[in-house]
Amino acid sequence: KAGRQFHPDDTVVEAGGAVFGGGHFGVMAGPCAVESEEQCMAVAAAVKKAGATVFRGGAFKPRTSPYAFQGMGEEGLAILSKVKREFGMPVVSEVMDARDLPLFDDVDILQVGARNMQNYSLLKELGKTDKPILLKRGLAATIEELLMAAEYIMAGGNERVMLCERGTRSYDTRTRNAFDVSAIPVLRGLTHLPIIADPSHATGRARLVPPAAYAAVAAGADGLEVEVHCDPAHAASDGVQALLPAQFDEMMRRASLVRAAVADP
Ligand code: PEP
Ligand code: MN
Repeated sequence: KAGRQFHPDDTVVEAGGAVFGGGHFGVMAGPCAVESEEQCMAVAAAVKKAGATVFRGGAFKPRTSPYAFQGMGEEGLAILSKVKREFGMPVVSEVMDARDLPLFDDVDILQVGARNMQNYSLLKELGKTDKPILLKRGLAATIEELLMAAEYIMAGGNERVMLCERGTRSYDTRTRNAFDVSAIPVLRGLTHLPIIADPSHATGRARLVPPAAYAAVAAGADGLEVEVHCDPAHAASDGVQALLPAQFDEMMRRASLVRAAVADP
């Protein structure tokens, strides 16, 4: 179902007014984790002003250490609902466990994190929902495995899947992951689904996020997911890769120039 050969036209995924694919471009931005209402309101105001179309924030966080901040859970989702009402922005948040799905009623886009890309029982449950899914490439997943994970969701009847390139593991320690920019045109040829890039997790360093974002846009991505925080030094997670609102604003300005420069005449 994900294959271009069965569906030549690009799939357009719409979520609460944000549109991805088929020439439509959107930007999901916000903190790695929902930390407080004040934090989310401040970041949402800034990213909306800069042109983001979806607010992101993790309430259930897949942390390497079980002793690290695990997210605010249900309380975090309630904060996302408030942001949605206050700013009229759709929201995206990660669902780690199918048992939590009833809590995600007010979430517009369900994110499957890299660590769960091959959690087939979760993917099957998401196939029974009618919500757009942002499926992130696994930590060391091939493009074929990413497409097959999408297939699991689509086979259940939910064809509103977006694929996200967020870098894969490498031997290098100067970047968090190796951003596979060529995955974007490779996927473009193989699938009709919208292709999103996450330059934040792909690079892991704030200074590297804008150049990776421009490369993704030039390579034809249908959207970006970017982490933004007003006080990165004190972020509960992923502060090192978070952009300040002003840096995000500048990145958005330049990304739109890149998009215009590579657009079909
Ligand atoms: C995230 O978006 O905060 C996240 C945990 O991403 P990934 O699953 O790509 O590591
Ligand atoms: Mn993160």
